[in-house]
Amino acid sequence: MTGLQPGPEPGHLMVPSCQSCGRAHWYPKPACPWCGGEWRWASVDGRGTIFTYSVVRRPFSPELADRLPLAVGSIALDVEPSVRLVTNFVDCPPDKLRVGMAAVPEVSGGTDEDRRINYRPVPSRE
Ligand SMILES: [Zn+2]
Repeated sequence: MTGLQPGPEPGHLMVPSCQSCGRAHWYPKPACPWCGGEWRWASVDGRGTIFTYSVVRRPFSPELADRLPLAVGSIALDVEPSVRLVTNFVDCPPDKLRVGMAAVPEVSGGTDEDRRINYRPVPSRE
C-alpha cells in the first residue's frame, strides 16, 4: 500500500502511525519523522479541518470541463493536525467553503484504480 486508503471503519483512513510515540504522519517515510521509530499502517478517524483550498474555474484538462467549478485543497486531520492531505471538496458550493471548516472523508469507487477519497465539508462538528 502506498497511497491513501480508507480504513475498515466508516470515516476512517489508513495512515502511517508510529509504534513508539503513537503519532501519525503523511506521506509514508522510512521512519517516524517525530522520533525515528518504526511505523505501521493504522486506522485513524478521518475527520479534519480545512487548512486551505482553491477553486478551479478554468479547465486545465478537457476532461475536467464538466466538473467545474472544482474545489481542491488541504485537510488537517483532527487526530494529528500535522497530517495534511490534498483532496477535492464535494457536496458543498465552492463559495460556502471556509478555512477552518470541519470536513469528513467520502470514499467513492469500488476498486483500487477508481477509488477516490474526497472530503465533504460539514457546517458543524458531527
Ligand atoms: Zn514516533
